[in-house]
Amino acid sequence: MTETKPKDVKTIIKEAEDIKCAVQRSIYLMNEFLDGPMCGRCLPCPMASYEMRVILTRMSEGEGKPGDVEAIKRLAPDMQELSMCKRGKDIAGFILDLMESSQGEFESHIEKACPAKECKALFTYKVIPEKCTICGDCLDACKDNAIIGEKRLSYKSGYLPFEIADERCTRCGECIKVCKYGAIEEVDEKELAEVTA
Ligand code: SF4
Ligand code: SF4
Ligand code: SF4
Repeated sequence: MTETKPKDVKTIIKEAEDIKCAVQRSIYLMNEFLDGPMCGRCLPCPMASYEMRVILTRMSEGEGKPGDVEAIKRLAPDMQELSMCKRGKDIAGFILDLMESSQGEFESHIEKACPAKECKALFTYKVIPEKCTICGDCLDACKDNAIIGEKRLSYKSGYLPFEIADERCTRCGECIKVCKYGAIEEVDEKELAEVTA
C-alpha cells in the first residue's frame, strides 16, 4: 500500500490565502496539517495541534471561553519549540504570526463577533424595516426560503417590511447582494445579545 505524502506547509498556507477570517484560516491549516496525514513521530506536535483545533473550532461556533486565546498562545510556542521537524515548527509559527498580525480578531470571537463574517454561527442577517421598500428582490434571490414577505403590488396597500427567518438562513449572502436599498445587514451575535439584554 502506498503511503499518502503530506502536503507541505507552504502549500497549505497558500491554499488558505483566500480565507479572510483568521480563526477560519487557522482551522483550515490545522485540518490540513492533521488530516494530511499526521505522522505522529513526536508527541508535542499532534497533542498541541489537536488541542488548538478543538479550541479554534469552538471559537468559530460561538462557544469560545475566556482563556482560549491565551491557551493557543501557550500551545503554539510549545509546539514550535518541541516539534522534531520543520513541518511542525512552521505550522505553529504561522499560527503565532497570524495571532500577532490579526489585531484582536481571535479575541473578538470569544465575544461572539467574527469581523470577517465567515463564522456563520457568529452573525445573522436582518432586514432594516425603515429601509425596506418591499421590492421583493431578496425573495427571488433566496434559495432557502428564509425570506418572509410579500412583494408590493401597485394596486394593493398594507404591506409589512420583509423579515428573515434565522432558522432557515444559511448565511449565503445572496440577499445582501441583490438588495439595492441597503436594507439587509449582517449583525454580530454580540450586538444582538446587547440589544436583547
Ligand atoms: S513535529 Fe514533525 S515529526 Fe513530530 S509529529 Fe509533527 S510532523 Fe511529525
Ligand atoms: S431586496 Fe431589500 S428592499 Fe427589497 S424587499 Fe428585500 S430587503 Fe426589502
Ligand atoms: S443569507 Fe442567503 S439564506 Fe439567508 S436570507 Fe439571505 S439569501 Fe436567504
